[in-house]
Amino acid sequence: MNFPDAADEAAAREQQMIEVALANRPRPAVEFTGKCHYCEETISKGHYCDAGCREDHERLLWAQKQRSVA
Ligand SMILES: [Zn+2]
Repeated sequence: MNFPDAADEAAAREQQMIEVALANRPRPAVEFTGKCHYCEETISKGHYCDAGCREDHERLLWAQKQRSVA
């Protein structure tokens, strides 16, 4: 990339550093909502009311991902 002056280049570098920092940031755990992510049943901990919901939801997310790729 060519920049007409140093200020533009510094700004671009700063922007790139921010993007790298964001990309490398550890992903926050899925937020605890108090509800099963799949059937929305009220739960006291975790993200699903039971293992079956977790499996079904993971399958659903996987299927959505496959669709968006295809
Ligand atoms: Zn559930």
